[in-house]
This record gives sequence, C-alpha cells and structure tokens, in this order.
Amino acid sequence: MALTGVQIFKLLPKTNCKKCGFPTCLAFAMKLAQRQVSLDACPYVSEEAKRILGEASAPPVRPITLGVGGKAVKMGEETVLFRHEKKFVNPTVFALEIKDTEDDNIQDKKIQDVISSEITRVGQVLRIDAILINNVSKDIEKFVALAKKVANLDIPVIVATENPEAAKSVLSLFNGKNPLLYGINDTNTEAMVEVAKTFKVAVGVKAEGLEALSTLTEKVKSLGIDSIVIDSCGRTAQQILHHNTFIRRAAVKKNFKPLGYPIINFVQREDPMYEALIASISIAKYASIVVLSSAERWKNLALFTLRQNIYTDPQVPMQVEQKIYKIGEPTPDSPLLVTTNFSLTYFIVSGEIENSKIPAYLAVMDCEGLSVLTAWAAGKFTGSKIANFIKESGIEKEINHRELIIPGYVAILSGAIEEKLEGWKVIVGPREANALPAFLRSKAA
Ligand code: SF4
Repeated sequence: MALTGVQIFKLLPKTNCKKCGFPTCLAFAMKLAQRQVSLDACPYVSEEAKRILGEASAPPVRPITLGVGGKAVKMGEETVLFRHEKKFVNPTVFALEIKDTEDDNIQDKKIQDVISSEITRVGQVLRIDAILINNVSKDIEKFVALAKKVANLDIPVIVATENPEAAKSVLSLFNGKNPLLYGINDTNTEAMVEVAKTFKVAVGVKAEGLEALSTLTEKVKSLGIDSIVIDSCGRTAQQILHHNTFIRRAAVKKNFKPLGYPIINFVQREDPMYEALIASISIAKYASIVVLSSAERWKNLALFTLRQNIYTDPQVPMQVEQKIYKIGEPTPDSPLLVTTNFSLTYFIVSGEIENSKIPAYLAVMDCEGLSVLTAWAAGKFTGSKIANFIKESGIEKEINHRELIIPGYVAILSGAIEEKLEGWKVIVGPREANALPAFLRSKAA
C-alpha cells in the first residue's frame, strides 16, 4: 500500500537541512508520495526508514532492462497515467518478430532491416530496438538455428517459446546478453521459471485477460522472479486500448502490484498500414514493447516519430544551443540565416539548408525552445533582440557581406532589424523550411 506524504514525513530525519533540494522534509515527503522524486535525494534517511520507504518510493511499474551495453533498452518505471502530469519515462521498445518457420532469405532480410533501421531525428538516434525470435515450428533445432543468426549481433533479443527445453537450448547462446524469455503461461510456469532462474533472465508471461494475468504474475513472483513483462493476450485495437489502460490505471492509481509490470503488445498484421495503426494505439497507450512483423522504412519513420512525441517531456522545451552553426563549409560570402532554438525548427531548417547544397551560416537564437511564430508572439524573437544577438555573435568578423535572411513568417520584423543593425540588409526568406533549397539556389545563381 502506498504511504501518504505525512506517513513518509514521520520516517524522515525532520532536520529541514535542504540537501534534497526541498526547503523542508515535509515538502520532500509530499513529492516522494507523488513519486516525483527519488528517496536517494536525502542522504540522511536511516536504514530502517529506507526499508519501509523503499516500497513506497518504488515506481508503480517495475523497471526492466533488455540487452546490454549501448543498445540496451529500459522499460517500465512509469509513474503517471497522462504525460502532462509529469512525463513518460522509458520509450516503447520496438521488436521485430522473426519466426523459425520463415525461410533463410526472409530471416536474413529481417535481420538486415533491423540493423539498417537506425536514423537520427531531432538529434536523437532512433531504431528498431530488438529482435523477437519465435519458436513457431515448435522444433528445437530450427529454433536454435535461428537463434545462432542473431546471437552475435549487438541487438537485444526476446526469446519466444513455451517449451522449457527449447528455451534452455537457445538461452545458452545468449549468456551475458540479458535477453528476455517470453512464453510463460499457466501450464508451463514452474519449468519456465526454473529456466529463467538458471539463466538469470527476465520473463514475459501471457494469460487471457487481466484476472488470469494477475494470478499468473503473482505465481511467478512467488517462485522467485519479479522481473516480468506482461501480455494480456489482447490483440484487437479495442482489447489493447482497454487492457493497457486498465493495467496502467491499476498500477499507478491503485498501486496494484500484480499488474505493475511493463506491457508487451503483439500488433502483427498482414497489411503494414493496419499494423502501423495498431502499433500507434499501443505506443500512445502504455505499451513498453511492441512486436512488429515488418520494418518498412516508411512505417519505422511514422512509429519513431510518434514514439518520440509521446516520450518527450511536455514540460521541457526541446532546444539547441544558441550559436552560429556552420552548415557545410561556408566561406565569408556564404548566406547568413537566423532562426530560433526550438530543436525541431533547428533540425528542419539545417536539414533543408543541407539539401540546398549551398553552404551557409545559421544563426540560432535562444528563444527558450520556442518555434519562430510562438517566439515572436511571446516577444522573444523581436527586431531588437535579433539585432543584438547578431551583433554579439561575432559573425560580422567572419563574413564579407551584411545580409541577414529571416523566416518568412516574421517578415514584419525586417524594418525593425535594419533599424537596429546599421549597414545591414534584411532579406525575407520563405515561410516554410522546405522552400529553402529553391530560395538559396536562386539567390546564389
Ligand atoms: Fe529532510 Fe533529508 Fe531533505 Fe534534509 S535532505 S531536508 S533531512 S528530507
């Protein structure tokens, strides 16, 4: 049962020393009760209090890590139902399913699709994070043959089988790689848990519906494993939405431990568009792992973008550093453009300048992470502020000309900038970044 702020306060040192970053122990206790801080922030908690508070301060969705090294992915640790309350913590893991019944060419192509799925968007590296190898054939030899193809890759792996013998044979190939063993049900529980304990891996449990699932997680926990990922066997859009929402609500609002685990959803469909739609529901509604049947580049991009949006902290604007960025290898005669430091704006504008093949200087002004129009409306991207930024940036020493290209949406600022920037000419650029390549090329012609 979760403790209230006052109950937690009684266990704290009550010295109000402020080392935790809060003015009083009571303020810290209140935040701890809301699971918005970690108990570690107070260096003076007694061991006894730690023991009691450990449970209360633990996130309601248990953390699990899949894989090792730089490509390991974390799941769980979520504390809220809605991202605007705080933020969602660990982004949904995308796993591509490879079946041991698929022929070699298809298996190899899928492996390549995962390897080549990596893209960088808004400064973040995004990829299909894991491979799920599925023992559809129920043949151990075929399963082992597939496992050998992925065993030496630097990619986290989910081993999907309901056969403890197959699990044993395959997990021995992944020693030290921290795979996940998926496939525990109510008929194989003891034997599969034994295998999982032998190889020290987390497990995925599956049961039809939430009641059966709660019973099964309790049983697995009582057998000594609590690194669990849960599958309620919801496969339709309605079931996924209903089950996932109920699970998160039960974990976060009711602190219901039997469902306080990361969720795995299987969204495979023959039609990739349909699969993308079902996956979108899973991403938006609490899935920690989404298992896909294919990894087309268009679909990856759509799902990566959605995941990135859902798992961006809505209270922290995404921003880049204020400075003059060199795009390509600009010379003193290269054009100079100005924009705001909202990450998406920066990456889209710099990408379009790159597309133009015209090297340029991009002056990125600190507007607290706001986009051009929002920053202008908020009075942070004004004529005098832009003029000051350009003057103080030192760009005048690097270029021969005195021309500044401003975004078309703030054409209204051209007069004010010219007034403050003596000797400069302001050129109004296009409204949309995708018109920049044509604009820069025609200017250079
Ligand atoms: Fe209280 Fe600990 Fe915070 Fe100090 S660091 S104010 S003792 S909660």
